[in-house]
Amino acid sequence: MAIDRFGRIIHYLRISLTDHCNLRCIYCMPEDQTFRPNADLMQDDEILLLAKLFASLGFDKIRLTGGEPTVRAHVVDIVRGIASTPGIRNVSMTTNGLLLSRLAGQLAEAGLKRVNISLDTLNPDKFKRLTRWGKLEDVWNGIMAAEQAGLTPIKINAVVVKGYNESDVVDLARLTLNHPWQVRFIEMMPFAGATDIQTGQVITATEILERIEDSLGDMEVANGGKLDGEARLFRLPNGKGDVGFISSVTAPFCASCTRARLTADGRLRLCLLREKEVDLLTPLREGATLDDLRQIILDGVWEKPWGHGLAEGLIPLNRAMNEIGG
Ligand code: SAM
Ligand code: SF4
Repeated sequence: MAIDRFGRIIHYLRISLTDHCNLRCIYCMPEDQTFRPNADLMQDDEILLLAKLFASLGFDKIRLTGGEPTVRAHVVDIVRGIASTPGIRNVSMTTNGLLLSRLAGQLAEAGLKRVNISLDTLNPDKFKRLTRWGKLEDVWNGIMAAEQAGLTPIKINAVVVKGYNESDVVDLARLTLNHPWQVRFIEMMPFAGATDIQTGQVITATEILERIEDSLGDMEVANGGKLDGEARLFRLPNGKGDVGFISSVTAPFCASCTRARLTADGRLRLCLLREKEVDLLTPLREGATLDDLRQIILDGVWEKPWGHGLAEGLIPLNRAMNEIGG
């Protein structure tokens, strides 16, 4: 079992399959972002071997992310390999949804359980402005394909950026009236690459909640007030789905954190918002034994930082968001 020095059992791994992406969201990366050469990224067999190692240490839940995980070659085979790894009971994915109308069925058949799809506005022009060139219709078709393929319950992730989409939160929340989806609003977090926007244009979860309730009425607490992952859940009057708030900046959920991340270049990142990482890929390529690698993982997890240091002005600047995976 992987346990940290604060007694938290860490059993949820987010794997970034690639830092590459088919969008350039303004809150994630600069327009001229360059990506790592493929040789620097974990290869398919390396991902599967590391997944097996983590599973042998009690990790039972995997989320694939990026960059955009669906642009990774052989993504369906990677999903199949991870989903069939003994000990792994849940494989999910966070995606921008652009390629899901083509891939959703294959991914579900390969063992993917569900998807979180990023969608920050229902206005096509604003969508283009936020993603720099994305077509909203493609994402919508992707959501429909995911639902049809049974990748449910669908969760929609919306990042809210002052001056771009703060007024769109009402239309997004309204989706939960007719769809059994969870629409989650994420407070923008700061990293390298887009730090000015990320620090200067934050809208807090409280502000978003007030906007929604002003337009759509008071919401009830859902899920018995318990966090669903990192989201606090509410329900609109007569809603079929839930409205979630992920307030990592203003109300972090570090005490209940059970997760670690594997970056696309094979570093174990212990906290999304701390620079601390442990290299797994280099020792793997240099011939470390499986037992050596297990020990490196256990030692790394033990040193997992308690939480982030945003309140003290500590911004992790060693990577952009797309390299870590959200
Ligand atoms: N490309 C996929 C996508 O967009 O869903 C997966 C990777 S993306 C980095 C994972 C999640 O992080 C997305 O929901 C995205 O909206 C969110 N995200 C990106 N930059 C962020 C930031 N600065 N603060 C908070 N969330 C962010
Ligand atoms: Fe790509 Fe996702 Fe980052 Fe947008 S948030 S640029 S889709 S990795």
